[in-house]
Amino acid sequence: MTNSKIWLSSPHMGGTEQKYVQEAFDTNWVAPLGPNVTGFEQDLERYIGESTHVAALSSGTAAIHLGLVLLGVKAGDEVICQSFTFSASANPIVYLGATPVFVDSESETWNICPVALEEAILDRIAKGKKPKAIIAVHLYGMPCKIDEVLKIANQYEIPVLEDSAEALGSTFKRKHCGTFGSIGILSFNGNKIITTSGGGALVAKSKEIKEKAVFLATQARDQAPHYQHSEIGYNYRLSNISAGIGRGQMEVLDKHIVLRRSMHTFYQELFQNIEEINVFKEPNSNFYSNHWLSCILFKNETTETRRERLRVTLENEQIESRPLWKPMHLQPVFKDHPYYGNNTAKSLFTRGLCLPSGSNLTNEDKERISKVINNFFK
Ligand SMILES: *Cc1c(COP(=O)(O)O)cnc(C)c1O
Repeated sequence: MTNSKIWLSSPHMGGTEQKYVQEAFDTNWVAPLGPNVTGFEQDLERYIGESTHVAALSSGTAAIHLGLVLLGVKAGDEVICQSFTFSASANPIVYLGATPVFVDSESETWNICPVALEEAILDRIAKGKKPKAIIAVHLYGMPCKIDEVLKIANQYEIPVLEDSAEALGSTFKRKHCGTFGSIGILSFNGNKIITTSGGGALVAKSKEIKEKAVFLATQARDQAPHYQHSEIGYNYRLSNISAGIGRGQMEVLDKHIVLRRSMHTFYQELFQNIEEINVFKEPNSNFYSNHWLSCILFKNETTETRRERLRVTLENEQIESRPLWKPMHLQPVFKDHPYYGNNTAKSLFTRGLCLPSGSNLTNEDKERISKVINNFFK
């Protein structure tokens, strides 16, 4: 008998999603607008609070793209971006003809290092160009040191775009990730903590900014009976079908966070007596992670060989795991862009591994994972 595959993070439906999708069909709201879109936005606004205004969009990447447009990023500008992230954080900078300037991580939250951030800002200003925006990420659901980042950003008057794609439900000092920056973004891709099968959202601080985002996301149509345009628009709105899935998912979000966090507890216990490994965890009680993915780090600065051997051992047992994000400044496509830091992200990349973390993993799955891991480190 072959075992079924244990995935890193797979969609986990709560049960009521189809009811909302059915409603969309019954009322013929099969379009990129409708009651589910409005309902989903209201659910998100209620959930993350802080009087936010949410625009549901077709993807997290689209939300970053529009966010940068709203912050006034134009061709020739420079935008600071956390290097240790998924490429979708950085790609929209290039869509706009702007240049990413990459900044290293610190080792406590694995997110943008405030010291390297300030160094980057000062050096770019000295070179004649003040960065137009800062993209800070809450990677793997771990809030970044957002208070320190905002302090620096405010000092130099540079707006922060908060990439909260992996951090819905995570908080810093009890305030939700995605609500700190000038603009926040969320993702509902298939592998995220909740999914609409594909989708995202832009979190705005005012009704006007949200309305501007929706205007741009629906082809920037001016008020007129005919089609009239004074600006370049995009087709980035979320469909009413997808938003229906989102409404159902919002009903189980808190439950899924509890389950993700219990997967993290499971790994902390599993690796308790394994000397070689640290489980990535919150630095202190100010940080509350949704633990979207549970990650481990080999303590020694060894080569990638041993980490890779563990990954392949798990793979042979039908258990998916994945190295941590490869930093953007080490990616072939971004290799000629400026980078500030001291290789913290690079070290994390060579030493780290993400383990199966889904809210839908069973006790049997956990037993299979325990067995393979205990065997490997025996
Ligand atoms: C998933 C993700 C995105 C992009 O979201 P999509 O909805 O897949 O476009 C952006 N940034 C980070 C950190 C992500 O993990």
